Amino acid sequence: MINSAIDKFTLIKDSIPLVQAIEYYGLHPIKRGRYHWIKCPFHNDKNPSLAIYEESFYCFGCGAHGDVIDFVARYFNLEPLEAVYRLAEDFNVPLPEERRLTKEEKKKIQQRIRQKQEEDKLYNDFLKAVDETYDYLCELNHLYTKIKQAISEPKDMELSEFVEACHEQDLINYWLDLLLEGNIQDKLFVVEEVKQWKLSKKL
Ligand SMILES: [Zn+2]
Repeated sequence: MINSAIDKFTLIKDSIPLVQAIEYYGLHPIKRGRYHWIKCPFHNDKNPSLAIYEESFYCFGCGAHGDVIDFVARYFNLEPLEAVYRLAEDFNVPLPEERRLTKEEKKKIQQRIRQKQEEDKLYNDFLKAVDETYDYLCELNHLYTKIKQAISEPKDMELSEFVEACHEQDLINYWLDLLLEGNIQDKLFVVEEVKQWKLSKKL
């Protein structure tokens, strides 16, 4: 039993090139120098810092590493043996002493994959919201600069408008800083704040 499990692992590793598997699951390795690179799916990676070698990967950002089975297991949140079965199925590698997955096992794998896809979607929606909020605040910032220029010498009547423009612009710049430099929590906070702020201003 133990031997056949080891055989399965070796067989999968020998049959499926890592870079091919990574491509198959929707990531886009780019060739740079001797190796392929991708943006690491295991941390918030801005530039490709995960190197794909012949049979292993290593992320210079977060230290994630392993072989094709480790990659698929971690990427889809599967047990190593489940990753072996998944790879075997996706790449048509017949396993020794092949047995079909039970309904229960298949269901479990499907659930985890669905969960992973939902998480990816949530994260992508979040990134989109951050981009949109950032663009919106930049536009607004520009607008307030114009307003302030137009009222360069505020008379009494315009004074409150001028003060408000200054105040709003401080707030906008604070938000822009957080969107650029902040962590995920900060960005979430700004996206929500701006949403509320827009509502309160009826913008
Ligand atoms: Zn990483």
